[in-house]
Amino acid sequence: MTLLSVDEARERILSHFHPVTTETLPLVECASRVLAQDVAATTELPLFDNSSMDGFAIRVADVLDATAASPRSLRVIADIPAGLSPTISLAPGEAARIMTGAQVPHGADAVIPVEDTDFIDRDAGSRAPESVLISRSVNNGENIRPRGMDIHAGQVVLNKGRTLKPQDLGLLAMLGQANIPVHRKARLALFSSGNELLEVDAPLEPGKIRDSNSYTIAALIEEAEADVIRLGVAKDNHESVKALLEKAVDHKVDMILSSAGVSVGAFDFVKEVIEANGKMDFWRVNMRPGKPLAFGEYRNIPFIGLPGNPVSAFVGFEVFVRAAIAKLNGSYNGSRPQIRVRCAEQIDSDGRESYLRAEVRPDGENSALVAYLTGHQGSGNLHSLVQANALLIIPAGVKCVPAGQEVNAWLI
Ligand code: AMP
Ligand code: MG
Repeated sequence: MTLLSVDEARERILSHFHPVTTETLPLVECASRVLAQDVAATTELPLFDNSSMDGFAIRVADVLDATAASPRSLRVIADIPAGLSPTISLAPGEAARIMTGAQVPHGADAVIPVEDTDFIDRDAGSRAPESVLISRSVNNGENIRPRGMDIHAGQVVLNKGRTLKPQDLGLLAMLGQANIPVHRKARLALFSSGNELLEVDAPLEPGKIRDSNSYTIAALIEEAEADVIRLGVAKDNHESVKALLEKAVDHKVDMILSSAGVSVGAFDFVKEVIEANGKMDFWRVNMRPGKPLAFGEYRNIPFIGLPGNPVSAFVGFEVFVRAAIAKLNGSYNGSRPQIRVRCAEQIDSDGRESYLRAEVRPDGENSALVAYLTGHQGSGNLHSLVQANALLIIPAGVKCVPAGQEVNAWLI
């Protein structure tokens, strides 16, 4: 078995994945999809000069000397609600009542909020006054959102490879983009393996445990914006493993993922079956937790065999599978948000790249982010992962991180 660094292993794996096909979807279906093309603005935003306040559109020159003690009276010649394009033009001494978002009329170069006038009737349906007293001067452009201040036409506003956030959909709507080119979602088949595994609702039997990995990993896949086909549990025999792999092929998946059954134990059949119809590599990756990682191909579909221990399976997903899904999905963002945190206690490591379960919380006078390990770090102890909100990353080659030192952490 080759000894690989985490980065080498990830690079080798990623070289076998390529972005899935694209499709054009109605905007409403695009949340969390990955953009397949850059999006350039076809219009300016805002579309026209508009008011950011309910008030009166006025001319700066008319109110230069206006004060509360000596207000300036202006004649109100129009009432401009949002949604109308005013046809008037303000002459000296004139104002127009205007609502937030309404188009600013010609001749106006500022909007004075209603609070700075003598007109206090803000009830729905109230009529504009015939004249208004302005109690202060204004700056040129005050309370006007000029056309194009946010975006100019032609500007690239969203890049290919971006996973669309809710606010992105809003921007696309503002720009009138009703149909969006996105990647289809990657499709993964998932199975667990082991004679000891029971369904979650089956009565316990001596020597058996419940299959937890398929729940954790399926949810991780969906959280990574891919579709998952859950194939259930393979028994530790040739036929059972082969039957599930063939089902995965029938579903035309982009990746096959399994947990357990890929060590060197006497009952680990997955390797054999895959090799009969593809190829399989075992790598010893310089990481902890993480048994040897199985990577191969079954009938030309990439296969990743995660370890069986629940925490190892989770970490294996985070380190390798998440990035592979991102690449399939066409996304440029293949990892969890990474932050710097301060270790609350000394952490000893064996020199492998280590992923430790920790709770990160603001602490101390300056509210720095401090990491506290969550209990027993054995790879079968799922509760300590449940209590954690971060994985601390201790780099390869480091044997001891003293208390108070900073390390990188993934937020999980
Ligand atoms: P294996 O890789 O088959 O040697 O399994 C390693 C450890 O993980 C053993 O303790 C298994 O019982 C456990 N394990 C394997 N699969 C699962 C699973 N799907 N859910 C929970 N534990 C599992
Ligand atoms: Mg097993």
